[in-house]
Amino acid sequence: MQASAMGESASGITNGFVGAVGDTPLIRLHGPSELTGCTILGKAEFMNPGGSVKDRAALGILLEAEQEGLLQPGGTIVEGTAGNTGIGLTHLCNARGYRALIVIPETQSAEKIGLLRSLGAEVRTVPAVPYRDPNNYVKLSGRIAEETPGAVWANQFDNLANRRAHYNSTGPEIWRQTAGGVDAWVAATGTGGTYAGVALYLKEQNPKVRCVLADPHGSGLYGWAKSGDLSISGSSITEGIGNSRVTANLEGAPIDDAVRIDDQSALDTIYGLLWQEGLFLGGSVGINVAAAVETARRLGPGHTIVTVLCDSGDRYRSRLYDGDWLAGMGLRQPQRFGLEAG
Ligand code: PMP
Repeated sequence: MQASAMGESASGITNGFVGAVGDTPLIRLHGPSELTGCTILGKAEFMNPGGSVKDRAALGILLEAEQEGLLQPGGTIVEGTAGNTGIGLTHLCNARGYRALIVIPETQSAEKIGLLRSLGAEVRTVPAVPYRDPNNYVKLSGRIAEETPGAVWANQFDNLANRRAHYNSTGPEIWRQTAGGVDAWVAATGTGGTYAGVALYLKEQNPKVRCVLADPHGSGLYGWAKSGDLSISGSSITEGIGNSRVTANLEGAPIDDAVRIDDQSALDTIYGLLWQEGLFLGGSVGINVAAAVETARRLGPGHTIVTVLCDSGDRYRSRLYDGDWLAGMGLRQPQRFGLEAG
């Protein structure tokens, strides 16, 4: 799957939903750039047709399953997901004649769960339990796939088709869009597909590209990257990122540094992006852009740093953009005048 196969055709007409995935803009973030003296760029993955970075993984996984003959017309794709992979998969299932069965922890936003239902997925919400529990949503989705005739388990965490999609599309797009001038790549990881696929590709083009893993609290990956310790403390309101284990997709990815960002900094960052840039984005973007700013500070002025704008704030309006909900989580809703004064 090459970048061009995911994106435009020679005529400029895209081939259905599938053809519209990828080839997203790389947006210069003025506030973070001016703050640091670096060029901080966000890959606009919220502009994918299913609304998130996970359209690429969903497409890569589906195309490989088709190529391997695992999916027959009318077949079912089963997946455990924080929402975005399920949303991308359900769009793709509609476009290509499959059924989508989605297992999602009930802690995820009502917007994502409602959207999955509107798109026509069969949705099973389950209690959020740790990965070691047999009823964890990922393990449950694997068992459901096994028990369902004609079903394929997307298995985004450990199916390397996920990171191959980013190695073959997101990475080359970033390299092209920066004309090879990227100094650092910064991203939080859920499955690790985005981070690892892009990091592997960019390091192959230029081993000096610094690859930085961003992580929220409540995840073991920052400690693992820094000192090999996967233990977890704290928690985060962000969705779709952080992990208690090293997935097959993250395994072997180059990691030069790691940055941990707290929820309040992530919130301040996404509200700043809304008020200063007009970009309305989700919580993982706050972790990513705040980590890109921290990376810029560590590198010093004059560097070009790329990160990911994973999805839209629309998916979290009742949470990240609701003052009462934030107060209930012990967080402060940023105030516009406060930012302008600061
Ligand atoms: N941000 C959001 C909002 C997500 O849904 C995900 C995927 N779970 C990620 C970031 C991380 O992407 P990846 O799975 O490729 O690590």
